[in-house]
Amino acid sequence: MITAKEIEAAIRNVPDFPKAGIQFKDITPLLADARLFAGAIDLLADNFKPGSVDAVVGIDARGFIFAAAAAIKLNAGFVPVRKKGKLPFQTHEQDYALEYGSATIAMHVDALKPGARVLLIDDLLATGGTAAAAAALVKKLGARILEINFLIELKFLNGREKLNGYPVRSVVVY
Ligand code: AMP
Repeated sequence: MITAKEIEAAIRNVPDFPKAGIQFKDITPLLADARLFAGAIDLLADNFKPGSVDAVVGIDARGFIFAAAAAIKLNAGFVPVRKKGKLPFQTHEQDYALEYGSATIAMHVDALKPGARVLLIDDLLATGGTAAAAAALVKKLGARILEINFLIELKFLNGREKLNGYPVRSVVVY
């Protein structure tokens, strides 16, 4: 079994990307290592047995990598939450605040059945705005979030406060 410490050691800190003052958590060294990538998926999905989740919802774009792999492991479907304007069919949209301005994410209106048991996954929890907006879209379709999981959490940004009421877990906490 891979430990969270080993995962953390494979995450590269890139200062001042994409702009000054941001330390970007680069997951590509982790993804490139077969053992660590598989171990990260095991840790993200380890609260669930195959068949206990109907859909794993992943957030555009790095969330897709982990959510899709977890979906296969859990014998669940995969549902993408995308940036506005990317999904081809009818969508529900949700706005959320960024540091400067706002952004919009979208999900297909038929992506989840009412009552579906959902695991929501993104690569990183920062301020929580993105995940809260994705959770709102899942709720709008009448599906049920079992857990919201992140590979990485930047605890000092208090993102969990925006995810009040949902069980939240993260593998590596900074
Ligand atoms: P937030 O809505 O503030 O929680 O931001 C979360 C989203 O922004 C995630 O989809 C992350 O991929 C991305 N993100 C925010 N901060 C970072 C960071 N320091 N390193 C890598 N990705 C980040």
